[in-house]
Amino acid sequence: MTGETLIYPKKSLRVYFSFRIPHYILDDCCDHQLVEHLKAPPSFGLNCFDSFSKRTQIVHDFAKFGEFVTYSIKAQFMGEKLNANEHEFILLKKTQHAFRVGKVHQLDDHVPFGTTIEQLNTLEKAVSDSIAEIKERKMLSDIGIEKESDQSDILYSSIGKQKFSYNEDPGQMTDYSKYMNFDFPKSLFSSVSGVLEIKIHIDKLAALPGIYELDDLNSLSNTRVPPVVELDFEFKPTKPKSSSHCPSSIDIEPVFFAVDMQSEGKIPFVFDNSFLAMDKSEIMSKFAKFKAYHDEMTRLQETGVCVPNFLSETLISLNHFVHHETPVKDILERQTIKLNWNYDPNSKSFKCFADFPLKYNVETLSSQKFTLVPGFQNCLFARLYKVCFNIKAGNGKCESVSLPISVH
Ligand SMILES: [Zn+2]
Repeated sequence: MTGETLIYPKKSLRVYFSFRIPHYILDDCCDHQLVEHLKAPPSFGLNCFDSFSKRTQIVHDFAKFGEFVTYSIKAQFMGEKLNANEHEFILLKKTQHAFRVGKVHQLDDHVPFGTTIEQLNTLEKAVSDSIAEIKERKMLSDIGIEKESDQSDILYSSIGKQKFSYNEDPGQMTDYSKYMNFDFPKSLFSSVSGVLEIKIHIDKLAALPGIYELDDLNSLSNTRVPPVVELDFEFKPTKPKSSSHCPSSIDIEPVFFAVDMQSEGKIPFVFDNSFLAMDKSEIMSKFAKFKAYHDEMTRLQETGVCVPNFLSETLISLNHFVHHETPVKDILERQTIKLNWNYDPNSKSFKCFADFPLKYNVETLSSQKFTLVPGFQNCLFARLYKVCFNIKAGNGKCESVSLPISVH
C-alpha cells in the first residue's frame, strides 16, 4: 500500500490483487524429469471451505482416503510501527484462503519417451542390464579383480552401451478401437443366424467435460458437443443375401470408470491412454516380470553386493504397482441403436454404421453429487478414466470392451 492510504480502526478496506496458478510445478519435484509429472494437478480428494460463501464444497471425486491435492493462498499484512526511530515493521494480519483448481493440461499419447509399453520395455532392459553388470562385477571380484576401474575396462570392452529407438509413433494414431464378435447360432426361436462383428472406436482427442460446478448441470450438457463413439457393424449371415436374418438393434450401456494407479516408490514412467485401454489383468502382467528382477536384486544384496540407487528405486516402484478401478454407475446415458443394414456384395455381408454420443445422465448427476477432476498424473499417483461398453446384441449374450476417455 502506498504511504497515502490511511487505515482507520474498525473500518474495512478493500485491496485487490491478482495472481496466476502456474502451469507447471517446480522441476525438482520429479527425479525423472517427466514433463507430465510436472504439470500442476487439479484439486483432488479434499473438501474445501470457501471463506467467501462460508460454505464447504463437498467433493466426491473417488479419491481414496489420504490422497489429496490442495491449493491455498497465504497473505500477510505488514505495518510500519508508529513513533519508531527506524523503519520497524510489525505483522498486522495473516490469512489463508483455500481454493479449488479445475482445468489442467490435456493429456495426450505423444510422449517423447515413447508409449507406456515402450517405456516399461526400456526400464526392463535397463534393469536387466544393471543386474547383469552387478553379477559380472561380482564374478570378477571373486577371481581377484577388485578395482572398479579394472572391472569396467573388462566389462565395457565386450558390452557396448545400447541405444534405443522407437519405431512406432504414437502421435500418428488417431483413434482407439476395439473389436467384438457375437455369434447367432441357428435356432428355432429366432430367424437371425450368422456372426456379428462390431468395431467400436473413439477419437483420440475425445474428452468429457470435468464436473465441478454441480449447481450448473444445464450448462454442462448444453455447452459442449458430447464426444462420439463410432460403431461399425458387419453381419455375415449363415444364409446369404437375406436382410430379414440380420439383428435389428443393439443395446449399449456405457459404464464410466475412474482408474487410479500408484506405487510405493516414485513412478519412473508416464501413463498413456492406450495403456489404460488394456484389461486390468493385462496391465498387471506388465509388472509381474519386475517381481523376478526384484527378487534377484534382493538375493544379490544378501550376498553383500552394493546395488545402485537407480536399480533399487526402479524395482521398488515397479514391484509395488497398484491399479484400482472405481465404477461410476449410470453417469452416462445408455441407448438402443437401430441397425439399418446395407448389403455389400464385395464382402458378401451386411454393413452399417452408427454414432453413439457419450452424454452425461443429468438425472444421476443431480441426485448423486459427483466431482470429476480432469485426468492427471505425477510421481506418486495417476488418475485417469475409461469407459466400459456393455453391449447386448439380442442373442442373450453381453460383450464388454473398454476404451480410454479424457476428462478435462
Ligand atoms: Zn516423476
